Amino acid sequence: MTEHLITDLKAAVRSIPDYPKPGIVFRDITTLLGDAGAFRRAVDELVHPYAGRRIDKVVGIEARGFILGGAIAHQLSAGFVPIRKKGKLPHETVRIAYSLEYGVDEMEVHTDAIGGGERVILVDDLIATGGTAVAASNLLRQIGADIVAACFIIDLPDLGGARKLRDIGVPVRSLMEFEGH
Ligand code: AMP
Repeated sequence: MTEHLITDLKAAVRSIPDYPKPGIVFRDITTLLGDAGAFRRAVDELVHPYAGRRIDKVVGIEARGFILGGAIAHQLSAGFVPIRKKGKLPHETVRIAYSLEYGVDEMEVHTDAIGGGERVILVDDLIATGGTAVAASNLLRQIGADIVAACFIIDLPDLGGARKLRDIGVPVRSLMEFEGH
């Protein structure tokens, strides 16, 4: 990935200071998604290492992970599986509690969404503390998934989330980094 492309994609992300609370800089990817060229290039770059490899399912984390995950699944000819906030999925689920950079919540996935040993890629827009993605990885492993990688547009390395994921054996791919929170 060229420096030029990274600069272009970074410029397509809108940064909003003190949202949703003082001290947080919200990295808003809606501007990147709304830019046809940036959206396409971001998805192309994310899938690049996995093209031609067997990927059975792409798992998106609600809600921004759904947008990217759908596009990535299509590109890799894989199925798409949603991880949702509790109470939204209609069939039998497994559930896990997790802490966010700003709050606590529970997420769940359909028990039968992934077959044992299926190769999956986990997708979200951003990794911060890693609380969300580590919980999602643990949830997926509970139902037998083989996690090939976790993909994000943005990594906030100062918060250590990518390192936590790698520590539990999940390879991490991200397109850009921002300093701080
Ligand atoms: P974490 O669990 O701390 O890694 O937080 C990741 C989740 O929170 C992702 O679903 C992000 O969309 C969201 N998030 C956390 N921090 C930010 C931020 N600074 N800007 C935008 N989204 C964020």
